[in-house]
Amino acid sequence: MRARNKPWADDFIKENHDIIELTPFEKKGKWNEVFHNDNPIHIEVGTGKGQFIVGMAEQNSDNNFIGIEIAKSIIVSAIQKVKDANSKNIRLINENAEDLRELFGENEIDKIYLNFSDPWPKNRHEKRRLTFRSFLDQYKHILKEDGEIVLKTDNKGLFEYSLVSFSEYGMVLKEVLLDLHEHADPTNVMTEYEEKFSAKGQPIYRCIAKF
Ligand code: SAM
Repeated sequence: MRARNKPWADDFIKENHDIIELTPFEKKGKWNEVFHNDNPIHIEVGTGKGQFIVGMAEQNSDNNFIGIEIAKSIIVSAIQKVKDANSKNIRLINENAEDLRELFGENEIDKIYLNFSDPWPKNRHEKRRLTFRSFLDQYKHILKEDGEIVLKTDNKGLFEYSLVSFSEYGMVLKEVLLDLHEHADPTNVMTEYEEKFSAKGQPIYRCIAKF
């Protein structure tokens, strides 16, 4: 996802500190205090411009949502969407999601969404894929016992890799869909990338996995 440099982004982020958490590492293990309730917490890694998380938060007002996005010039669009929707159950984090154990405590999270993550197709970049076993170690640590990982992608290579990685890790595959939009799922909230790729007629893959 490309975005132009936005010189006003820093100020915009500071102004919206009620939406974007400025000291997220200090909130580790205490996100329920940030939301002022004990509702389940779902996180999205690589939130992009925020369409998915805002749609999910609207549809599931009894859950809290945290979106992590590394690119400042992109997360500002997500902030604007949260503002426009006046969503109270969303917080955003502008950090590199390289080790989620620094942001979240053990068993703090109920669900992890990996939407259209970068596929890193070259073998030598395998360790960067968000479903490489070192990432699964992190997810296992922060997820509750019954927690789930929900992965959506248009990328067949990443999808197949992830299914193998989950299985080799001993995870249970609760759902595997090779064409998500073929099955009418009224609860599915489309991401920006999902809209773009499905408009081109590409199938969207979805998998739900548990430890
Ligand atoms: N999830 C969105 C969607 O489906 O429309 C965006 C998908 S886009 C291909 C991947 C996003 O992940 C980009 O916005 C990118 O900046 C973000 N990203 C990549 N690596 C990341 C990391 N290590 N930590 C946080 N965000 C990351």
